[in-house]
Amino acid sequence: MDIQFCGAAQTVTGSCHLLTLDDGFKILLDCGLYQGRDEEFEDFNAKWIFDPGDIDYMVLSHAHIDHCGRIPRLVKDGYRGEIISTSATRDLCAVMLLDSAKIQENDAYYDNKRRKRRGLAQDAKPLYTIEDATDSLQSFVGISYDSWHPIKQGVSVMFKDSGHIFGSASVTLRIERNGSDPLYFGFSGDIGRPDRPILKDPEPMENLDYLICESTYGGKKHNQLPQDVEDLLTIIQETCINNKGKLIIPAFSVGRTQELVHTLDKLETEGRLPEVPVFVDSPMAVNATEVFRLHPECFDSDIQEYMLDDPNPFRFNDLKYVKRTDESKQLNYLDGPAIIISASGMMTGGRILHHLMNHIEDKRNTVLIVGYCAPHTLGARIRRGDKKIRIFGQELRVKAKVKIMDSYSAHGDEPEMLEYLSNLSRDKLKSIYLVHGDLDRQEMFRSALKKEGFRDIQIPELGDKIEIG
Ligand SMILES: [Zn+2]
Repeated sequence: MDIQFCGAAQTVTGSCHLLTLDDGFKILLDCGLYQGRDEEFEDFNAKWIFDPGDIDYMVLSHAHIDHCGRIPRLVKDGYRGEIISTSATRDLCAVMLLDSAKIQENDAYYDNKRRKRRGLAQDAKPLYTIEDATDSLQSFVGISYDSWHPIKQGVSVMFKDSGHIFGSASVTLRIERNGSDPLYFGFSGDIGRPDRPILKDPEPMENLDYLICESTYGGKKHNQLPQDVEDLLTIIQETCINNKGKLIIPAFSVGRTQELVHTLDKLETEGRLPEVPVFVDSPMAVNATEVFRLHPECFDSDIQEYMLDDPNPFRFNDLKYVKRTDESKQLNYLDGPAIIISASGMMTGGRILHHLMNHIEDKRNTVLIVGYCAPHTLGARIRRGDKKIRIFGQELRVKAKVKIMDSYSAHGDEPEMLEYLSNLSRDKLKSIYLVHGDLDRQEMFRSALKKEGFRDIQIPELGDKIEIG
């Protein structure tokens, strides 16, 4: 039996790991898109380390595009098995993958336009089309949390809520072995945080023999949310009331946007939110919010209680969801203060780019960054304080204030990840493979895990294959 690391190795995006059992049966864990502009990964999304037609089964941890975003391509290139996920993840993927396909098609279209202007061959092709994404949805099978689901004779899988985004799960595979105890192989997926709005707390995994574990925030400690809710109110007050400016919040359409909207909804219910128009300018966020409402089984007890008084926790008087492009464009001419929440969170594309372009050069405004931005993204440059940036080829000077709130992160910080893993037996767990982190964070997390008594902690490189069992 071996495990091959086919993505998110010493980097954060492109999650993909291939487990090959002793009898040659191949299980793919996640099939995510690489997001970023590092030249080293230029071909990553279009090229496979394995042959998709050779894979027997796929397990998906959650619906973030860096975990599911290459599935349509996998199916297009020959994968014919089932894709198993939680039911909420399956439904969110319907939204995410169609949106991703639209972006791929648009990118190819504009790329070909540019090529035409330069007299080059117009041969740019989308990674996959809307049709490919729709086809791939036929392969999905949604199952519930906390029960063993058979994959084949002697192998079963269980999802546990990982508290990261709606529908997110850790994956445990139980593999029966002749003459000895079953082997438990775990994949953390992305580890969430306790006491988050909307989501349940991360649930510990089974006692494992091997674990692939994320490491995004190794060596880091986040602020706690209650303080940041007060800080958010202060930022709204200063930007929108005192300066009459706009508060621009780039946010992932799935997860972060709904958490922010629910926080604002609660503040409005409590009478603490100043009267400022709020726009969620992301068609995908609108669709994802509808999916949320269909899966109350994923809500934590706080929001279930809240919904007894306010049946729609994602809607309040001053809030407007913007779906159509022409309505989005009208926001460019909006006078006076406003809060605009838009995607993408890492500012790599989407409507947020127009809002940044229109507002980042005005010192009355604030850009509030509420999530991780991978290196080489526009978000990372704004986050680190660059004073000059480029959007659509145009140079802009950053005069708006830039604020950062990491407590809205959907990823646990180091103490939270250690707490999540604390139940695992140090004797039983033979190896931990760290993925989904930049190398410096991974090294910090490895030291912390060693201090906690875990034995063999490895940081694989892309393509590494390791024998286990
Ligand atoms: Zn994620």
